[in-house]
Amino acid sequence: MTEEFVDGFRDSALARKLAGKLRSLDIGRPMTIMHVCGTHEHAIARAGIRSFLPEGLRLVAGPGCPVCVCPARDIDLAVAASRRKGFIVATFGDMFRVPASISSLEEERAAGRDVRIVYSPLDAVRLAREHPDREVVFVAVGFETTAGPIAAALRDDPPANLAVIPSLRLIPPALGFLLDAGIGPVEGFILPGHVSTVLGREGYAFLESKRGAHGVIAGFEPVDLLSAVITLVEMILSAGTPEVVNQYTRVVSEEGNRRARDLISSVFVEADSEWRGIGAIPRSGLVPAPGFSRLDAVRRHHLEPETPPVDVRPGCLCHEVILGKTEPEDCPLFGSGCTPRRPRGPCMVSSEGTCRARYQYRSADGTGRN
Ligand code: SF4
Repeated sequence: MTEEFVDGFRDSALARKLAGKLRSLDIGRPMTIMHVCGTHEHAIARAGIRSFLPEGLRLVAGPGCPVCVCPARDIDLAVAASRRKGFIVATFGDMFRVPASISSLEEERAAGRDVRIVYSPLDAVRLAREHPDREVVFVAVGFETTAGPIAAALRDDPPANLAVIPSLRLIPPALGFLLDAGIGPVEGFILPGHVSTVLGREGYAFLESKRGAHGVIAGFEPVDLLSAVITLVEMILSAGTPEVVNQYTRVVSEEGNRRARDLISSVFVEADSEWRGIGAIPRSGLVPAPGFSRLDAVRRHHLEPETPPVDVRPGCLCHEVILGKTEPEDCPLFGSGCTPRRPRGPCMVSSEGTCRARYQYRSADGTGRN
């Protein structure tokens, strides 16, 4: 993709025109739309898109940050692994500081445990090969976009001393859950650009055919997001047949990345999965397939949390922020008891977290609050 091509979606004159159109929409009733992508939240907050929303329209952030929805139990298991003699725990940087029930991986490293930050699953494979006399446990966290590279790293001849704590989650079952639960109630989704490269537009066909919900697949530039909001509102107001529109055609195809999906399903199978603050969502997670069960660190090493998991820390409203029920600015700790330097919950820790994005762009996000 050329820079010139992308520049068209950063065109400030076009963005201003779209912002004016959005602001002038007469929706005449309350309406809630949701995005489910941490990168979208950053782009929306950075561009101040909420400041252009017409009266009655809420644009809320849903469970689109993989680290934020990761339940405390998964981190507790990683903590338990780090306390085993001879173990190395490998984790993406975003997970390092997330507080779990009694500790975090950062605290464990400060206490002398061998916790390493890796930048790709291949780093974890390399780490295991470099330390054949140690057990390496990789915290495999992410959505469909991350599941592909993890599957690729594990499929062919993974080192015998490598295993994963499976913490991979799938977006479509979460969308179904949100609709079934009547959260919001949400009338339409801005669908995540990155995940959609894997799923394609057809990966959301169930929204049209079974759930009666609208969706727009969107990119990350201001023009992308303003267009997506306008299209979604117009579709909802038209009360026409539910539809999923792909407005990110420069990256996302109708069928998505079939090879990536085949790769994922060659290593992982779907399983019921816990989401922080939400609970179990049927078939919303990935665990190693039967032929790869030795890669499951929890089973192989009989890992157990040392205490009952605590998903919701006192005072933290992440579990409500994740569902779009509470805005970060309405949390009493936002910006005072909880900041990126001293985070209280995962939504402020992760670079994809909603609280983190709102804090980072608090003068621009259109809420008028900080
Ligand atoms: Fe939790 Fe901090 Fe967000 Fe409040 S501001 S919900 S304490 S992460």
